[in-house]
Amino acid sequence: MRTPIIAANWKMNKGPSEAADFVNNYLKTPPDVNKCDVVIAAPFVSLAATAEAVSGSSLKLSAQNMYFEENGAFTGEVSPGMLLELNCEYVIIGHSERRAIFGEDDALLNKKVAKAHEVGLKPIFCIGETLEERDGGQLESVIKRQVEEGLKGIDPAKMPETVVAYEPVWAIGTGRTATPEQAQEAQAFVRSVLAGVFGEEISDQIRIQYGGSVKPGNAAELLGQPDIDGALVGGASLEPESFAGIVAAA
Ligand code: PEP
Repeated sequence: MRTPIIAANWKMNKGPSEAADFVNNYLKTPPDVNKCDVVIAAPFVSLAATAEAVSGSSLKLSAQNMYFEENGAFTGEVSPGMLLELNCEYVIIGHSERRAIFGEDDALLNKKVAKAHEVGLKPIFCIGETLEERDGGQLESVIKRQVEEGLKGIDPAKMPETVVAYEPVWAIGTGRTATPEQAQEAQAFVRSVLAGVFGEEISDQIRIQYGGSVKPGNAAELLGQPDIDGALVGGASLEPESFAGIVAAA
């Protein structure tokens, strides 16, 4: 049985005080959840304030990115050790915005996933096709490449604590959600690729989130699919009420 995991990806929103306000408001009337991991991925500069606000609650903290070296001459980057010091448990790796806007490729993401495991951070590893790729019949080849290259050489024993987020790029921030059937079909395919790389026993333990315009109104149906083990939520995670609605659906 895979424990559902709902993660808020705030992207470049919420400085420290807004981040703390969100958490304090969310925790006033948190949904009554039993066995569901709820994660907040805050911007780097808001991690300390978010860590303080979530302490003593069941909310878990994530970063949205990291570099794969421990320290050194990498101006503007943040190391995994720094994230651990701020009590991060998770780190998003390879979000489609990192891939598309900042040019992060499979080889770089592979180094980041390996480093996250090495230090004890749990990666939320993002994959997903663009609309052109889907329309061009490349859905399966793109996903297969992203999984096989991004997770190349990763110790299978580390995979149950790795979360994979399937996010069709055309559904991110567009209001256009994959239908539950489309999402389930793609997620089952992701799991079959994971089984090819790590074996079926391991792939059955890996939590695969869906991401792409998840909202309180569509969350239950998406999360009811057999291979959808949670959601990575952008826009609808910015207000405590709508994020809570999605958590409640899980
Ligand atoms: C995301 O940023 O990962 C995401 C899924 O965004 P949204 O929910 O806004 O589509």
